[in-house]
Amino acid sequence: MQVPFLDVGATYTELAAELDAAHQRVMRHGWYVLGREVEAFETEFAAAVGAGGACGVASGLDALTLALRALGVGPGDEVVVPSMTFIATWLSVSATGATPVAAEPDERSGGLDPVATRHAITERTRAVVPVHLFGLPVDVEAFEALAAEHDLRLVFDAAQAHGARVGDRPVGAHGDASAWSFYPAKNLGAFGDGGAVTFSDPAVGDRLRSLRNYGSSAKYVHDERGANSRLDELQAAFLRVKLPHLDRWNTRRAAIASRYGDALAELPVDLPVEPPGRTSAWHLFVIGTDRRDELAEHLDASGVGTVVHYPIPPHRQQAYAASCVAELPIADRLAARSLSLPIGPHLTDAQVDQVIASIRSFPW
Ligand SMILES: *Cc1c(COP(=O)(O)O)cnc(C)c1O
Repeated sequence: MQVPFLDVGATYTELAAELDAAHQRVMRHGWYVLGREVEAFETEFAAAVGAGGACGVASGLDALTLALRALGVGPGDEVVVPSMTFIATWLSVSATGATPVAAEPDERSGGLDPVATRHAITERTRAVVPVHLFGLPVDVEAFEALAAEHDLRLVFDAAQAHGARVGDRPVGAHGDASAWSFYPAKNLGAFGDGGAVTFSDPAVGDRLRSLRNYGSSAKYVHDERGANSRLDELQAAFLRVKLPHLDRWNTRRAAIASRYGDALAELPVDLPVEPPGRTSAWHLFVIGTDRRDELAEHLDASGVGTVVHYPIPPHRQQAYAASCVAELPIADRLAARSLSLPIGPHLTDAQVDQVIASIRSFPW
């Protein structure tokens, strides 16, 4: 049996009738950009993630970039970002004209460390972008306190954390804004690209709606240099079909994570942690071992797909080669030792058993 790392087509198979109906509804309505589907999805998504409002945009990268711009971040500013993340977190800061300044994660949880963040703050720092990495919420209270103390804007990169919670509050309830991606592989994925920003201040929402639509508040009136970054009606209609299933899918992800955790507890690997009060969305299940490459080959030979998140941290990428970055040993170590196991709502118990058996049969 093959256990693919990810089966993005499985949600279509599960919900084909409803998705096809949503598709036809949009096609027949004849309105494809910024219409009633996007508006309805924004209301439904904001409610689901505990936010006051939502603004649909074209991607997770744009969600981050436009959130920072809406909060006034721009050239001359510094923004603290985690050293270990998908490069989009850094690119969004660069896209505003500001400078990303890396701070290291807490090695056990992988999430940006509030203490390291404090040390990275200078008089030019305008914002912090913590990432709920792999679906695990960061220490949101610590970042809210830090932001209040230093008068910083706080934007959470929630691209991997749809449905994650802190206590009984969904992660979208925190900070000035949260940025979401609906890339197909995410916990809530579209059938193409998409993203959203959630916020609590309606003025931020107004600014975002202008920025995503050519900086326009009225047709052919342009108040600022905005972008064309809109969530399609079709993608919004598909997301409205999928959203009611998110919690159930995340519950299945958590059950798989718990089985991996129990079954691998005796092995010499670092397992993901879920600190008290924080409920992961289990976007990824990432283990750590010095023998990462050997283990990945062994699993591949037994039909189990794995991926490394992320093999080259942003500060080692050519894209940031010209900027002067300090030593970031924790990011380097995570990049060298991390391996993501298959996890997803449609993975069967038999497939999970096979992943576990294959890891156990590795000559530890
Ligand atoms: C996927 C992702 C993004 C970017 O989302 P896109 O929709 O692909 O632009 C940003 N940050 C993180 C942490 C991600 O995983």
